[in-house]
Amino acid sequence: TEQTLVLIKPDGVERGLIGDVIARIERKGLRIAALELRQVTTEVASEHYAEHAERPFFNDLLEFITSAPVVALVAEGERAIPAFRQLAGGTDPVEKAAPGTIRGDFGLETQFNIVHGSDSPESAAREIALWFPHLNS
Ligand code: ATP
Repeated sequence: TEQTLVLIKPDGVERGLIGDVIARIERKGLRIAALELRQVTTEVASEHYAEHAERPFFNDLLEFITSAPVVALVAEGERAIPAFRQLAGGTDPVEKAAPGTIRGDFGLETQFNIVHGSDSPESAAREIALWFPHLNS
């Protein structure tokens, strides 16, 4: 079975959406394999978003993701990676995410789009090793 790394970002935690996001993951049929509320360091945040290092929004992204605790979790099941991307909806919560998705239902701005989910098996392996180094070992 496949595993994916999900983050409920500071906006999702502050707005009280932890339970809703986890409920959607569970109702989809995915299993929670690891879960923690965590204050992320700048080091882990820049590793996590390394592919965006050259983007103009990189510093804002690091500042935001380290501003308050996030929920990090590993969800697993058949096609867990695309399944969670489907639940999350597109990156821009208004232009890309459909109603019924997490971002489509709860988001207004791309920077504050509530959740992260791994976008490929390679990203998932890298991100799970970063956030949960003792899992699967
Ligand atoms: P994630 O990787 O968090 O699941 P994603 O794959 O949908 O999101 P990416 O293009 O990888 O989107 O961007 C990563 C994150 O960077 C976005 O989720 C968002 O929080 C932030 N971001 C992306 N584009 C912008 C932008 N134009 N302005 C501000 N923040 C942005």
